[in-house]
Amino acid sequence: MGDTPSADKLLTDRLLRSWVRCRRRAWLDRHGDPDTRVYTAHRTLQLDDQQRSFVALLPRKPAAGLAGLEAGAPGVVGVRLRGQGSDGWRLEAHPPLLQRVEGRSRWGAFAYRPVLARQGRRLTREHRLPLALAGRLLADVQQAPVPDALAVGGAGRRLEKERLPLNTALDHQLDEALRKLAADLCRPEPPPLAADRRKCTLCSWRGVCNREAAAEGHLSEVSGIGAKRREMLQELGIQRLQELAAANPDQLALQLERFGEQHGAVAAPVVAQARAQRDGRVERLDLAPALPELDAAKGVLLYDIESDPDARDDFLHGFVVLPRAANGTWDLSLARYHPLLVLQEHGERCCWQRLRRLLAHYRDWPILHYGETESLALLRMAQRQGASDRERRLLKQRLVDVHARVRRCWRLPLNSYGLKAVAAWRGFQWRQRSVDGARALLWWRQWRGSGPSDRGHAQALRWIFTYNEDDGLATWAVASWLLAEDQRGPSE
Ligand code: SF4
Repeated sequence: MGDTPSADKLLTDRLLRSWVRCRRRAWLDRHGDPDTRVYTAHRTLQLDDQQRSFVALLPRKPAAGLAGLEAGAPGVVGVRLRGQGSDGWRLEAHPPLLQRVEGRSRWGAFAYRPVLARQGRRLTREHRLPLALAGRLLADVQQAPVPDALAVGGAGRRLEKERLPLNTALDHQLDEALRKLAADLCRPEPPPLAADRRKCTLCSWRGVCNREAAAEGHLSEVSGIGAKRREMLQELGIQRLQELAAANPDQLALQLERFGEQHGAVAAPVVAQARAQRDGRVERLDLAPALPELDAAKGVLLYDIESDPDARDDFLHGFVVLPRAANGTWDLSLARYHPLLVLQEHGERCCWQRLRRLLAHYRDWPILHYGETESLALLRMAQRQGASDRERRLLKQRLVDVHARVRRCWRLPLNSYGLKAVAAWRGFQWRQRSVDGARALLWWRQWRGSGPSDRGHAQALRWIFTYNEDDGLATWAVASWLLAEDQRGPSE
């Protein structure tokens, strides 16, 4: 670990933002070993979004530092605001942008307000508190009140502006948060793992925390247990995976019904899942074949979409085309990758027609995908584009969700049934290490630029295609295991 706790009595807007996301994260930011951090594309994506939003907001390139403020530039970056908090803590904020507004400050007949670019569609505490801190410190520096701050969104495509009043209520919330943050930073040990561990996928400390969760048998390690169920189990005195695995499912069902009748039904499956993970056991749940659609199929299409969720843009529909060999076996050496890149300027109609042609060319071949994203996106597009009821019904029949089949037929000794976990368990290796959807999205944004005249390097596209093709092949790694198990029969 790095600093001695409480050695550095400095609270920053960055620590505050980390703390709002997860108390442990702020502690690790201050005291953790930086060498154990893992790269996450999330932060780079955020900076990229911010850059585009600021370009759309400002009439010209922002000025830098105190000199920019003194000169009354419309936008100023690179200003570090400092001040004194309570109990000897120093405060510091480094707002991404200060925007000139009407008013009167120590520099003349203008004032400034802090601006940040928000990701996602709503302004949250993660945005509000750092803005409030920046506003408080800025008021001291400019010797004039800062009645509001600004959050911008839309990554420059359709600039959205939201004014945040910096009022007394928010000020109280800030004081409270700073007090709790300071107390957390003084702890000799890090706070517990986040209750909702879904947020860990975006966090650079996930390597450290995942190892700790696995070592201590944290309940979030049991697939199917989210923050709420974990809380209920803890109230019943079950703190660890091993304790859950040792529980009597019938008794646990009765105890869980205290929280509502529906909760009793989850007792047996979560106990069984905990036991599978504790014992490393693979268990068949349904003896019916997992993928009967493939019995007579001439081939399969392995389908995976890459998306930009903020822009609601499915920019790549990737297909691995796998025909059945003449001898009836499945031979991956016959597979070909077919990416359909979708540019928003071409419109959805064009995309639908290309997809339709491809799907018609491989008429009746099952379309295998992992999770419901692909089927939802395709069927919704078909509906928007006026496909007939019959066409949509036939399309729906061809779509096979491999994830749903795994869940229906098997219990696995894994803490997640996601594609990455299940395919890796089957020994599949992605060619590009440490790449995830966020990194692919970053490559996409870098390649896409602001339009046809501003395209990035073609290599970025090749990386996206490789990643997407591998997701298709990973889907096949899971599907071919299901097929092999089906052939092996129920006696095994
Ligand atoms: S990985 Fe999860 S628990 Fe660990 S610091 Fe990050 S958000 Fe918190």
